Amino acid sequence: MKAALLVGPERIDIDEIAAPRLAPDEVMIEPAVAGVCGTDISFFLGHRVVPYPFLLGHELVGRVIELGAEVTGFQVGQRVIVEPNYPCGTCSLCKAGRGAVCAQKRSMGVNVPGCFAAQATAPAEFVWPLPGNISDQDAATIEPLAVSVHGLLQSGVRAGDTVAVLGCGVVGLLLIHAAVAAGVRVVAHDRIAEKLGMARELGAVIVSEGNDAETVWQRENVGTVFECAGASVTVELALKAAPRGAQVILLGLASTPVSFLPMRLVREGINLRTSMIYDHPADFTYVIDRVAKGLLHPSRVVTHTYPLEKLGEALQFAGTGRAGKVHIQVT
Ligand SMILES: [Zn+2]
Ligand SMILES: [Zn+2]
Repeated sequence: MKAALLVGPERIDIDEIAAPRLAPDEVMIEPAVAGVCGTDISFFLGHRVVPYPFLLGHELVGRVIELGAEVTGFQVGQRVIVEPNYPCGTCSLCKAGRGAVCAQKRSMGVNVPGCFAAQATAPAEFVWPLPGNISDQDAATIEPLAVSVHGLLQSGVRAGDTVAVLGCGVVGLLLIHAAVAAGVRVVAHDRIAEKLGMARELGAVIVSEGNDAETVWQRENVGTVFECAGASVTVELALKAAPRGAQVILLGLASTPVSFLPMRLVREGINLRTSMIYDHPADFTYVIDRVAKGLLHPSRVVTHTYPLEKLGEALQFAGTGRAGKVHIQVT
């Protein structure tokens, strides 16, 4: 099958490789559209290392082309998306519905082969049939939307509340979209003007670079701050500028230490929590329903589409941080 393989840092080769073997509990899918994610970019740039050659990609919509021997409930030709993180299902966290943080979790395009290829496999339990009215572009963007919606649901915010979003990458933008759809007022911050433009288009009421965060958050009565930039400096800003009584929710994956004043958090009742991807199967159930009902249109954040042959170029461009969601037309 045709595949776009990562063969070294910043090197993608288009090659013919053997199709993946189908396990009895798996579904074989022919991807139509696949999204480029920050995870793919960090592997591409060599910030995270995989044994080369490796197939990246985990946000896909496609058609079922073959069923494993034990799989029931699917039909060849059916349109599906994949929930690309596979928690073990048996540990105490999984049993408590917290598969997102399962230590044995397997992830497509991270530690099992991804979907930037003519065929991809996934366990049937994590393959979701789609209503016909969802476009391929919306369908391929449901997975990152689930990440953002999980954060929003964790926060417990309600219509009429005001929240701040630090970082208008795809996770931040989709969080803004879901929050606005739920009647929540959003103050959005990013360093890049194009991103602020997108945040405004999605309905953020105030957008700025963030230098004024403390003043604006107090004035607008921000009760929740979502850190979606994944940078130590924005985590520090969130913890320093969050108004009295607010909560700070980290979705970004900042990888260097930060400093904060515990006394302020305790005395002023600032709560800090984290939100990691989504829980199986609750979040996909919820998000697919919202998209099918036309309440959410995650493809509004898609700004560029490349053919599979240009995956390297797509990853390079997505890595500049100037794009919204970048899609790959696989077939
Ligand atoms: Zn992703
Ligand atoms: Zn588990």
